[in-house]
Amino acid sequence: MPDIPKPHISEGPVTLRNWPRHIAWFNTTFIIIIPLLGCIAAVFTPLQRLTAIWAVLYYFWTALGITAGYHRLWSHRTYEAGLPLRIFLACAGGGAVQGSIRWWSAKHRAHHRWTDTEKDPYNIRRGLLYSHVLWMILKQDPKHRGRPDISDLNEDPVVIWQHRNYIKFVLGFGLILPMVIAGLGWGDWKGGLVYAGILRMFLFQQATFCVNSLAHWLGDQPFDDRNSPRDHILTALVTLGEGYHNFHHEFPSDYRNGIEWWQYDPTKWAIWIWSKFRLASNLKRFRTNEIEMGRVQQMQKRLDQRVATLNCSVLPD
Ligand SMILES: [Zn+2]
Ligand SMILES: [Zn+2]
Repeated sequence: MPDIPKPHISEGPVTLRNWPRHIAWFNTTFIIIIPLLGCIAAVFTPLQRLTAIWAVLYYFWTALGITAGYHRLWSHRTYEAGLPLRIFLACAGGGAVQGSIRWWSAKHRAHHRWTDTEKDPYNIRRGLLYSHVLWMILKQDPKHRGRPDISDLNEDPVVIWQHRNYIKFVLGFGLILPMVIAGLGWGDWKGGLVYAGILRMFLFQQATFCVNSLAHWLGDQPFDDRNSPRDHILTALVTLGEGYHNFHHEFPSDYRNGIEWWQYDPTKWAIWIWSKFRLASNLKRFRTNEIEMGRVQQMQKRLDQRVATLNCSVLPD
């Protein structure tokens, strides 16, 4: 008799008895349990002014690790970075506690390649909560996993070094460093851990997850409306400029997400400044003409759709 493969746990329903077996406990520890403990600890930890300033600064620092590093450098190769900048981004991104560069970028490439389909790891068609957080908390059937090419990542020693030592990066840059700076700097060890460590990590995790959920649900679609990505200032504000998501899905190899001067995209500004200091190079941009063509085509499509709804036989001469 041939062996019948056992169905994956995710194929069955979540019940009162089996729910612990559905949970991916490693992820859940870092995105639910530790943040919950941090919120409880915050009730008993007064927030000092210096600690608040440090927490905001460290939010920006670790956020850049994700937006400029994990996303625009390693997932999309929108520019090149020398070794010092790659090491900085790997440490900062590790402090954001969102998985290793290798894991994050592989998922993100799958998301772009198979947007809104079963192989999209954070497929919005499975619901807002699923694309926001459930895809990490519930065990996923490897059978449905999209496997994009990540051979370039496997050849980057910084990526491999960070992947192998990921837990050390999380503890070192996610929790210990923010605590030690506040502790040695102004004696607030506990506040450093709770506010600059845990709550800062929690808030930026939630902000990034909004790009996978809200940015596929809320906002405009000036470049393409065949798939779900949308532009919205709210998601841009909390994610250092990653909210211009309709543009980004249309032109993913552009180092910018907000292309207008007035659009809030500090990640783009940071990459541009690094290039002036020769830390980054080969910043890729689509030509304005191509971008405008995309915008005009979408406008034309909308116009055609509106015309189709009108009764043209009664148009005036
Ligand atoms: Zn997306
Ligand atoms: Zn992307």
